[in-house]
Amino acid sequence: MLKLARFLKDGIIKYGIIEGENVIEIEGSIFSSFKKTSIAHKLDSVKLLAPCEPSKIIAIGLNYKAHAAEFNKPLPEEPMIFMKPPTAVIGQGDEIIYPHHMSRRVDYEGELGVVIGKKAHMVKKEEAKDYILGYTCFNDITARDLQGKDIQYIRAKGFDTFAPMGPWIETGLNPMDVRIETYLNGEKKQDTSTHDMIFDVYHLLSFVSHVMTLFPGDVIATGTPSGIGKMEPGDRVEVRIEGIGSLVNTVNCER
Ligand code: MG
Repeated sequence: MLKLARFLKDGIIKYGIIEGENVIEIEGSIFSSFKKTSIAHKLDSVKLLAPCEPSKIIAIGLNYKAHAAEFNKPLPEEPMIFMKPPTAVIGQGDEIIYPHHMSRRVDYEGELGVVIGKKAHMVKKEEAKDYILGYTCFNDITARDLQGKDIQYIRAKGFDTFAPMGPWIETGLNPMDVRIETYLNGEKKQDTSTHDMIFDVYHLLSFVSHVMTLFPGDVIATGTPSGIGKMEPGDRVEVRIEGIGSLVNTVNCER
């Protein structure tokens, strides 16, 4: 059970293991083999970055029963997938930029993010666990007005800064029954267990890997529970997942 972080220190990108209030630098790759060094930094002396650099993010629509109900949609018979571009990724503490030039309704969607650990092609559900490095908090930011207007989700889901993830990757999580909560300005908006997913994490990885090959560092955003809602510039949004931690971002205007 490790908390793997990617961070910036003195202008250099490094990886490390979170231990209490410190991050211990590692040598090697989080996707193959690595070892701890003797170099430790106080967490507040580094800038946490998104914990990986996905070549693609595959997100799942309508994967919680209560969320399907709030949109008056029938339960899907198989996972509904869409993609978010890697250019949307931001990390802990970074700003979500409200795209006022196109949208008037931008929502949070707190989700469990699955970080792929090794190349995955046509993986059986029973073997899916072996392809997962760990889990992170993910916020599937959505321009809801454009989602309704467009047939494809790519614009509504794809603006720069619309994929906050972090604060790190937890390698020891059992994804089947963890609590996931979203807070807007400290007020609780979403609170569900991943037990309420329609398709569980292993089912999703297997399904997606039968469509496209997944690479180390790719991320599956596993869908949001009920309680989604809008954000405005100045808002602070937090996705909190039991066993991982809290991903906090603020919303700001375009400049
Ligand atoms: Mg979503």
